[in-house]
Amino acid sequence: MDKIKSIQSKLFRVPLAETLVDAKHGAHTHFELITVTIETEQGLIGTGYTYTGGRGGQAVLAMLEYDLAPMLINQDAAAIDVLYDEMQWHIHYVGRGGIASFAISAVDIALWDIQGIRTEQALWKMAGGHGKTCKAYCGGIDLNFPLEKLLDNVKGYIADGFNAVKIKIGQPELKTDIERIEAVRNVLGEDRAFMVDANYALSVDQAITAANAFHPYNLLWFEEPTIPDDYFGYARIAAQTKLPLAMGENLHTIQEFELACNHASLSFLQPDASNCGGITGWLRAAKLGQQARLSVCSHGMQELHVSLLASQADAGWLEVHSFPIDQYTHRPLVVEQFQAVASDEPGSGVQFNWEKLDSVHQPL
Ligand SMILES: [Mg+2]
Repeated sequence: MDKIKSIQSKLFRVPLAETLVDAKHGAHTHFELITVTIETEQGLIGTGYTYTGGRGGQAVLAMLEYDLAPMLINQDAAAIDVLYDEMQWHIHYVGRGGIASFAISAVDIALWDIQGIRTEQALWKMAGGHGKTCKAYCGGIDLNFPLEKLLDNVKGYIADGFNAVKIKIGQPELKTDIERIEAVRNVLGEDRAFMVDANYALSVDQAITAANAFHPYNLLWFEEPTIPDDYFGYARIAAQTKLPLAMGENLHTIQEFELACNHASLSFLQPDASNCGGITGWLRAAKLGQQARLSVCSHGMQELHVSLLASQADAGWLEVHSFPIDQYTHRPLVVEQFQAVASDEPGSGVQFNWEKLDSVHQPL
């Protein structure tokens, strides 16, 4: 047995190059990165992490330091599944979902990192081993971009070697969304994949009207048209439109994934390992999605999800998110021939550039 000897958590507040806006979270000027570094008695060191859109990071850090770290010390670092369930129950009463899921995710990823280092395996091998590449698309946070800038941004994604793009919708007038979708489709041409994301800004009825209006533009999916808790509202949208639905970034517990997979008539599931319980939580959610015959994709932190998606048979799309966490690692996302490529390094495949993070960190 190799016991956990120490746990160190850190919070970085990282400025974005420009303010990014979506329909419901509003303006993002920073993202927060919360890292957890665990050392074992045998001297193995692994790091996990989670992130926020700029708020709540201090609460995640506090839960890690005051609640999770003390219960984890002296536990077997290799007992990942057991520790995962124990962490869930340890803070269930106060923190079920939400902040607890973010904190647990960071610990879980650190434990997988250690496991990979111990067994000398890359994450794509440990998590399923199907392969080491997956489809990737660029997810813009571009609701505030004037049309010309939106189109330039999309052209930039194509120039960077991508063949699939998502934009934000949720303008005050549906007409404006349709104009922007039409213009982006014209830039992309017929063959590139194109998705839209409302960040749950619409009512069910508004979403039905919007989905029907978007139908001529051959969209691959309509993401978070309405609040993620309204599973039956999603089913109603799916029943009354032809646009495939996607969600998952706001599902935190396995019970929420069960409800979504069984009742929401989704086509694409987008779990995020930073907020659904780390690699353990992501793999459990992915299994439910596969059983429900959904295309399992990801949200955010492309530098880690590339390995998880690649590890799965019939994997869906990797989101290359506009929070560039990968730029603060020693291996920013690698894309070749439109496919993202997983790291072969033992462990999570994500090693932070601490000096770079320290140099950009802007405390509150
Ligand atoms: Mg989204």
